Amino acid sequence: MIELPSGGAGLHSSHVQHNDATFWMTQDAHRKLLAVRAPTTHHFPIPFDGEPRALNDNRVLTLCPLTAHNARALRAAVPWLKPVRLGLQTSAGFGDRLGLATVGHIRALRAARAENLAPIFAQQSIRENARTGRTPPGVLDDATWGAFQAGWKSAVGADADHLKTTDDLDACVAAEYSFYTIDPGEYVNSAADRASATELRHFVDLLPWQELEGTPRDLATRYAGKTVRLETRNLKPETDDLLRAAAKYGRALAHVAKMYRHLTSTSVEFELEVSVDETETPTTHVEHYYFASELKRLGVPFISLAPRYSGRFEKGVDYIGDLDAFERDLAVHAEIARCLGPYKLSLHSGSDKFSVYEIAMRQARGLVHLKTAGTSYLEALRTVAQIEPELLRAIYAFAREHYAADRATYHVSAQLARAPLGDALSDADLPALLNQFDARQILHVTYGSVLNARDATGKARFKEEMMAFLRANEDAYAANLEKHFVRHLKPFAANNPL
Ligand SMILES: [Zn+2]
Repeated sequence: MIELPSGGAGLHSSHVQHNDATFWMTQDAHRKLLAVRAPTTHHFPIPFDGEPRALNDNRVLTLCPLTAHNARALRAAVPWLKPVRLGLQTSAGFGDRLGLATVGHIRALRAARAENLAPIFAQQSIRENARTGRTPPGVLDDATWGAFQAGWKSAVGADADHLKTTDDLDACVAAEYSFYTIDPGEYVNSAADRASATELRHFVDLLPWQELEGTPRDLATRYAGKTVRLETRNLKPETDDLLRAAAKYGRALAHVAKMYRHLTSTSVEFELEVSVDETETPTTHVEHYYFASELKRLGVPFISLAPRYSGRFEKGVDYIGDLDAFERDLAVHAEIARCLGPYKLSLHSGSDKFSVYEIAMRQARGLVHLKTAGTSYLEALRTVAQIEPELLRAIYAFAREHYAADRATYHVSAQLARAPLGDALSDADLPALLNQFDARQILHVTYGSVLNARDATGKARFKEEMMAFLRANEDAYAANLEKHFVRHLKPFAANNPL
């Protein structure tokens, strides 16, 4: 009898059976491996690539390296690992810049009893991939291995986040993502916010009317003087508000429609999110109504929308603003989403916004998608701070040097002068940097510079060390993620009416 490799520490939960094949994660002295045991006659949709050994009961055990090919074969053999559409279920995106966080995310879902949330473990934007040196298929594969290792057995989605061009779409379609977040932000005309009535009419005349399948006159007939009945209130757009909405979002609408039509020309099964959260000013209710009803008119179905809400959703820190005003604002967005959809309201830059989760879930009645990303990278840094303080000090000093340049593309307000210096902190106090507002944001937005920093030999000086560290301290990292994400997920689990 040949001895079967067992799961090893922390890997036993990976054991799953489907049809008459069994799969689990194991490891040899150097690396993790996928073990597949099946009858010799078993036919897999995609054959696994590995070393087969005959067992004495007409079965074969194959030990497979964790390659892209084997990730694809595993998704084909174990159906719940293949990303699918999640529909209107309350959902959460766990963006993972380093690709090692999924096990911790799943521990948090279980600890928060939030397994009724539909999770998206693979979620990176093209911008993030450029900064981390990753690719859409690589991100998906990392999430697949993590979900498999942790024994996740429910539906998952995969979010191709903040896509801006049809080339972006193609790269994610090829990798079989299931959730496409279209970001038409570059086509939003923010000058409309301050434009005069004459300027607004001019902007509207210049919209791509052919792509919008209409004329300025149609716009007037569709909306002017009309009262929109929501559940508890009416919206009565004034002509100027309507012109402003069209001037601001008309080009963005045409771009979203173009992206959607491109997606439908492929064979991928998908759901769509539309995000305008990275605009200069909050999305008004009239703008939301106009944008969503025009998407409907253009035949563009979407499962979630990310308006820019009132107040500030800065990276890595709690909501900044008046919570009552936020609730009043979101209540109307939620009514519009129910009347025109229903579709979900998406909370982008959603990590660490502990004071708004309960409000959002209650007002949107569970029709919410939470999107987090950089906060898992910060938990990786917290783990480094706890165990390898000198590495964290070096990363933090480097991050401070690059903050001024790197903050440009983000909504952040951290000031270097308010963030403690790493050298001024004892080893024991160092992890507390990850709780300090300014230091958090500085570390959050500099991830691209940190991960791309090279030493004299061209080696990624921090990234390689961090990845090796996190692989060696997998459990400590997962424990930090669990602790941090339980706080995120509990309000969604507790207030989920669906
Ligand atoms: Zn966003």
